[in-house]
Amino acid sequence: MRDLESHVARALALVAPLEAQSRPLSRALGLTSVRDVAARDASPPFDNSAMDGYAVRSDEVRAATTASPVRLPVAGETAAGAPPAELRAGAAWRIMTGAPMPAGADAVVPAESTDGGTAWVEIARGVDAGRHVRRAGEDARPGDVIVRAGETLTAARLAALAAVGVSEVVVVRPARVAVIATGDELVDAGQALGPGQIHDSNSVLLAGLVREAGAEPVVMERASDAPEQLLERLAAADADLIVTTGGVSVGAYDVVKAALAGAGVEFVRVAMQPGKPQGLGAVHGTPIACLPGNPVSVLVSFAVIVAPMLERLRGEPTPGGGDPETATVARGWRAALGRRQFMPVRFTGPRTVEPATAGGSGSHLIASLAAAQALADVPADVDDVTAGDTVTLVRWSR
Ligand code: AMP
Ligand code: MG
Repeated sequence: MRDLESHVARALALVAPLEAQSRPLSRALGLTSVRDVAARDASPPFDNSAMDGYAVRSDEVRAATTASPVRLPVAGETAAGAPPAELRAGAAWRIMTGAPMPAGADAVVPAESTDGGTAWVEIARGVDAGRHVRRAGEDARPGDVIVRAGETLTAARLAALAAVGVSEVVVVRPARVAVIATGDELVDAGQALGPGQIHDSNSVLLAGLVREAGAEPVVMERASDAPEQLLERLAAADADLIVTTGGVSVGAYDVVKAALAGAGVEFVRVAMQPGKPQGLGAVHGTPIACLPGNPVSVLVSFAVIVAPMLERLRGEPTPGGGDPETATVARGWRAALGRRQFMPVRFTGPRTVEPATAGGSGSHLIASLAAAQALADVPADVDDVTAGDTVTLVRWSR
């Protein structure tokens, strides 16, 4: 049996980072920035008011109190979007939130600390220099790096770039991943089940996992257990990576193995549970991962083998890396001695988990996957996981 680390190393060797392209922010969500992206404009771009109120020279109003307010003429008014004015000595300037500070003013008295006057204003509370002023560049200065190479472009990062005047980003184009389920027993979710038939859940699962990982699924028509049909589908696949499910173990109708063994794909047993039978290679020059058929095995195989391949395709420097997340076990389970086990778990608290299934890690328990939030990664030399143990978690989407 091959250990998972060396299997993943072989999987990663099959793929290379895809080419980069420039895209507008509106088409970059979820993609990875190839470069460090620096601010063009400062944030805020100019000194502006943090409050609706009156811009003042702070030394003229510092002594103001309710008992002895300071009365100043209102020399003018600036709303957000207007150009900056100039404040002469001995006057106040009415100002709205986000409006540029008048030259000469160094603080804003909130409207709540005044009588709200328009010709004259009575100020009942002094302010110190700088109070309620948002300083130009206090958030970011031109040239500051806002997003680093290798970071995912989340909504918040895209918004930060928009704020500093960046409209385009250089990203790796999303990988196209062809998904092909195999099996004579499969029918679509909406179809009534005939004798011996089951619904095809792997196509739905993989399409979703691929999309959650920031890539583009291309779900192909299912293939039967006849090798010719699978070979036809594979010849038609136009993708950066092909993922098949089913037909890789030692049964009599293991179609993927029958069609591809000795034709560019190696079929091996990997020391993991579930997901032991695996295929890996290339077909017509396209990398292919042949996963087992059981849905839980598909999820686990995706998380630990396919997801790192997608990370490499999108240019991440350390696919499968990152800080490991851990949790405490609230309710134990039996592990798989001699194989690394991936147990679907759900959170019972912020950092405590229990098995997501009642029936253990059975790889056919697809309906129980609905409750799973992560996989607990149990080393091969552990045969029993007990309450209070610390486990490492694996997530299957970013
Ligand atoms: P196989 O390796 O093809 O024998 O499949 C192993 C198990 O997974 C069998 O019980 C299959 O019925 C089941 N299976 C295979 N493909 C799918 C699929 N697309 N959706 C749901 N279950 C599947
Ligand atoms: Mg099958």
